[in-house]
Parts: sequence; structure tokens; C-alpha cells
Amino acid sequence: MKVLVPVKRVVDYNVKVRVKSDGTGVDIANVKMSMNPFDEIAVEEAVRLKEKGVATEVIAVSCGVAACQETLRTAMAIGADRGILVETDAELQPLAVAKLLKAIVDKEQPGLIIAGKQAIDDDANQTGQMLAALADLPQATFASKVEVTGDKLRVTREIDGGLEVLELTLPAVITTDLRLNEPRYVTLPNIIKAKKKQLDTFKPEDLGVDVTPRLKTLKVSEPPKRGAGVKVPDVATLVDKLKNEAKVI
Ligand code: AMP
Repeated sequence: MKVLVPVKRVVDYNVKVRVKSDGTGVDIANVKMSMNPFDEIAVEEAVRLKEKGVATEVIAVSCGVAACQETLRTAMAIGADRGILVETDAELQPLAVAKLLKAIVDKEQPGLIIAGKQAIDDDANQTGQMLAALADLPQATFASKVEVTGDKLRVTREIDGGLEVLELTLPAVITTDLRLNEPRYVTLPNIIKAKKKQLDTFKPEDLGVDVTPRLKTLKVSEPPKRGAGVKVPDVATLVDKLKNEAKVI
């Protein structure tokens, strides 16, 4: 069974992003970029399935600028067998990515697609769901445990107030939650090995996909600055402030 893992290149989670002065977006010039953390978890899960003998091949796919190659090399250093870059300088929104991924799914016919639950830059949480709809595949989002037996998939999902266990028929789409696994560190020998792995590049036109944005960002702004705190002398003052100033109790 082939496993397809979509990996997005995003601003590294340690970077404090700055809003551009004209309010059109965030400034990503000269900012450290990394693989979306949920996608690292997805690659790790796919590689573990291969190590267990459940998966035969792990294919990482990234859509975006040429530098997404680095993200694919990281996926291959974790253990993906090969990479596919869908290269474009256009702004990609989740629907466009889902359409590109659907085209790759048609080409590669994977038994399982493991995406991240959300990309930490736009926090859309849409691509996996849209891909499942476009490809007409069952989906289990926010997976915290994945078990494959034959053509059945058992997924434990984190939902409000507890866990939900779903059984799906393969092929299917999963999106990863934080607690699914802890991704391994990439080692230098594996980074070097990854450089030799196969990486194919397509353009959206090669896949017959129109990636024109459907949504327009009107404005991006910084959250309001937090005011300074005050120290209260006793509990009675605190309760009074909560009641009469903050009006929360
Ligand atoms: P989102 O819907 O944007 O929050 O992204 C959810 C997941 O879809 C990500 O964790 C990735 O697995 C996948 N994804 C989103 N954008 C891309 C992209 N440009 N290239 C590859 N995978 C992507």
C-alpha cells in the first residue's frame, strides 16, 4: 500500500511573525521556514506504517514555490521514499491544494493519505476534508491513533470531551492531531541519503488544475496589545474587580 503525505512549507513555529505595514499579510522575507509540525507527525506515522510492513512506499508531496523542495527533502530524511513537488509561485488556498492533491491521488492511487490537521500559518483546517470530498474518500480528522488491518482502518479521534473511534474502509484520508506520535529527529546520514531520493516536479497546468484564489484577504492586523497587569492586595479586591471592572462574575 502506498501512503501519500502532503507536506506544507510554513513559517517555523518558533518565529514571531510580523504583520506587514500595509496590512496585506505577514512578512515572510528572511524568516526561517520549516515543515508544518502536523505534517511532520504525518510523515512519521507513514514511515512507522512502512516499518511495520503495512505500507510499501511513502510519497511526500508539497505544493508551492521551488524552495518546498527543502521540505520534501526533510520528509525524505524522516523516511519518505520519494517526493513530488507541484511548483507554483501563485498564492495557494486550501481548495487549490486539495485539487492538486486530488490530481496526484489519481496518478499515484495511494491506499492512504495522511495530511496534517491544519497548517500553522493560515490555520485553515480545510485541505484534508476538501481532498476527501473531491476524491470521494472516507475521512477521519484529528487522529490520535491509527491502526490498519487488511483493508480496514481504525482511527481514534480527539473530540471535545473525549475520544471517538471510527472504522473506515481504505483508501481513506486521515488528518493528524498533536498526540498521534512524536516525530524522530532527522540524522545527518539520513539527510545525506535523502538528497539522492527521487523528486519529481509538476506544474499545476500539467495536472490540469486552475489554482486561481477564490478568497481575497481584505486585511491582516496585529492582535490588540495587552494592557499592564495590576497587583491586588487581597481576595476581596480581586473579587470586586472581577465583578465591577471586568464584569466576568
Ligand atoms: P490547511 O487546510 O491549510 O490548514 O492544511 C491542512 C493540511 O493540508 C496540512 O497540514 C498539509 O498536510 C496539507 N497542505 C496544506 N497546504 C499544503 C501545500 N501547499 N502543500 C502540501 N500540503 C499542504
